[in-house]
This record gives sequence, C-alpha cells and structure tokens, in this order.
Amino acid sequence: MATLLVRNATVLVTHDADRREIADGGLFARDGIVTQVGPTTELPDTADEVLDLRDHVVLPGLVNTHHHLFQTLTRAVPAAQDADLFGWLTALYPIWARLTPEAVRVSTLVGLAELALSGCTTTSDHLYLYPNGCRLDDSIEAAREIGLRFHATRGSMSLGESRGGLPPDRCVEAEADILRDSQRLVEQFHDSSRGALLRIALAPCSPFSVTPDLMRETADLARSLGVHLHTHLAETLDEERFCLETVGHRPVAYMESLGWMGPDVWFAHAVHVDDAEITALARSGSGVAHCPTSNMRLSSGIAPLQRMRAAGVRVGLGVDGSASNDGSNLLAEARQALLLARLELAERQRRDPAGLPGGTRQMRARQMRAREALETATLGGAAVLGRDDIGALAPGMCADFFAVDLRQPTYAGALHDPVAAVLLCAPVPVACTYVHGRPIVREGRLATIDLPPVLEDHNRIARELVQGG
Ligand SMILES: [Zn+2]
Repeated sequence: MATLLVRNATVLVTHDADRREIADGGLFARDGIVTQVGPTTELPDTADEVLDLRDHVVLPGLVNTHHHLFQTLTRAVPAAQDADLFGWLTALYPIWARLTPEAVRVSTLVGLAELALSGCTTTSDHLYLYPNGCRLDDSIEAAREIGLRFHATRGSMSLGESRGGLPPDRCVEAEADILRDSQRLVEQFHDSSRGALLRIALAPCSPFSVTPDLMRETADLARSLGVHLHTHLAETLDEERFCLETVGHRPVAYMESLGWMGPDVWFAHAVHVDDAEITALARSGSGVAHCPTSNMRLSSGIAPLQRMRAAGVRVGLGVDGSASNDGSNLLAEARQALLLARLELAERQRRDPAGLPGGTRQMRARQMRAREALETATLGGAAVLGRDDIGALAPGMCADFFAVDLRQPTYAGALHDPVAAVLLCAPVPVACTYVHGRPIVREGRLATIDLPPVLEDHNRIARELVQGG
C-alpha cells in the first residue's frame, strides 16, 4: 500500500466540517485516501513519499465545473475577440468544424495542464462537436495521461441553422446517433464508485442548439443509466429571447417543462435568473457552474452568485471554454468570482438603495470573503458534481490537494493571512498538485507528461484550424 506524508505546511486548509486551518500542518494518505490530517507533530514520521511543504499553504484541490477543453485551440481568435455570445459562436463554429481526434486529444492535454498548474484537481469537460471522427474517448484518453479527476460530458448539438438553431448544419448530429453514443460512453467509462477518477454525464449544448425532444430523451437516458445532466442556461439575453420566441418560456421554466431540474442536473451560467427562478433552482437541488470571466468577456451579464448561494443553490466555479476566458486558471477564476460578487453588490445597492440600505458597515457585512470564494471553488464544485469524496481534506476524503509557495514576490507583505493571500493576491502557478495521492505538478512543473512538445503540437494544430485547411 502506497503512503504519502505532507508535513510542515505553514497552514493546511481542510474545508472540513469545522473549517479547520492547521498551522504547521500536514496530512497522511494511504492509496490515495486521506487517513489523517493535523499538526505535523501528530502525524507519522515517515511514508513512501514525504513532502516537506514548509513556507507553503496547502489547500484542497479546486474543482472546475464547466469547461470546453477543445477551445484551448481557439483563444484570442481575432474575429471572436470582441463579440457577444451569438456573434462569438458564429465566428468560431466553422473553425471548430475542422476539429480532429488529434486536436481534441492535444487541446485536452494542454487545458488540463493549465488547470493543474492553477491548483485544479477535478474538472468537468463539455465536448459538444464531433466532426471528422472525433469522439469523447479522445479527451478521456488525454485526461488519463495527465491524471486529473475527470467528469467528461457527452455534449451534443442537433438543431442546425436550417431548422431555426444557431449552429451551421454541418456542426450538428442526428439525435439517434447522439443517444446511441451517449449510452456507449456511459457503459464503457462511467465509474460511480467512491474515489472515481472518471465519470460521464450527458450534456445537450444549449436551448438554441438542441431540440426539446433531445433534451427529454437525454434526461430519460441519463436517469436510466444513473448519470448526471449538464447544459448551458440563462447565459445571455439573446438566449432568453430565443426561448421566449421558440418555446414560450423563460429558460428556467423551459427546463422545468422538460423535467430538467433536480439534484442530478447542473447548469452553466445562470446569469439572467430572477428571485423566483433562484428559488426554483434551490428547491429542485439543481446545481450552477458560475463562470465569471466568460460572462465578463462576452458581456453576458453578472450572475447573482451571492443571492444564489444565500438561497441554497449548489454553486461551483467554471473557467468555461478557453475561447471565452481565455484561460484555464481556476485560482484566477475564484478571484474573479469574489471581485465580480463585490461589484454585483455595489450595482444592486445603486439600483435599489431602499432594498439594500447603504453604509460602509452594511456593505462590508455582505461582501463575499476570500475564504467563501475558495470554498465555492472546492466544496461548492464538489457538490455541483455530486461528490462527497472531494473538496475537503479530512479522513476518508481523496488525497487531492495543491500547495502555493509563499516565498514569491506575489505574496510579499501578505503573510498576515496566507490563506486569504492565496485568493486576494495575483494568482501564480502552484508549487504542486496531487490527485489521489499522485503528483500531477511537482516543483511547479507537470510531472505526468512532457509538456513542451505537446505545446508545439498544440500551436501547430491551432494554426491549421484557424487558417483553414
Ligand atoms: Zn460553456
């Protein structure tokens, strides 16, 4: 049995039931599962692998709940730099139609590497185009190479332009093929066991790219197979208009009409939701992947993060696809979430001074705190993905964690509170990231793959895709 000992951390953040932060802390893990957390002096003296994290903060691994890893190939594409969602998609669909299996595999490697370097240990991915023989298997293979915990979602688009949808017809699939492949993937790859490194979920792309029939049939299939459901929802006002015009409902009511609410469902975005819709999300137990950078990048709007959390909605964070971020840095995303929540509060107070009595003290009491943002990125994400075995460092939990080195210029002058500093100071690459007790990042470098040649391939493929071929 392989054992791992982490010792001498300046602080070890547990996110356990008591939210303990242990000074001079560490943990002991056996076969990828934490068996002990505590001050270094109370832990065993040795293990198969001993990690001395003096001058580091150790935190539970971050959980990313929404991504499109293939978009790592199309960051900063000139035609999509300044567009809103529909314009951005329309500019990028023809480029994505040239994706190949190799492009999916290599972009997944690069996106996952970037996530791991930002402290992420578990990520979801939403692949919704399958041109030229691409399969979800291509991204699953890459995730296994890197070693991140992976929730691959079988995305889909079936409503092409000629039938009133947004994507070009050549980017959509036949619904029978989508359902058949969804079933194959769940049967072949889904692992429902505790500590699973790979799970599958089903994810029709958005209200404007799939039919109500496919939504219903996907939900039936997912529930018969015992896997979760994921889609984009209430991201932009254009989407809201589309839903009102085509199905006569606002987006959340549309999901209710399809039986698409519940603890087995999570939605990306939920930007344009009113109080009644927030209540409906909370009551049904539906989860939300909050993607602040993407929402700002595309001028989609400001999601009511703190109101959703206060209402009891399960909320995690998502970096969203790399073409609308344009990055996969989850620590940076947690920082954006905090900053945007503070801006949202100020905006609400400006709009409704009576409902939100002003005054500096009241404002401060309502501000999102650094530790809340970190928790949204760990426990919040775990809850959204339906997991109780990740998101905290405590006996019985997976040994998923990362550490930041406090001896960098970024943290100078912030050591009064090193935990808050991890969030409030500018995010820098982490020192190490472990998944299930296995090093993915070590001494600031990827430990599982040789990254430079992969980056070279990635840039070649990106050039070919964007220039056409
Ligand atoms: Zn997305």
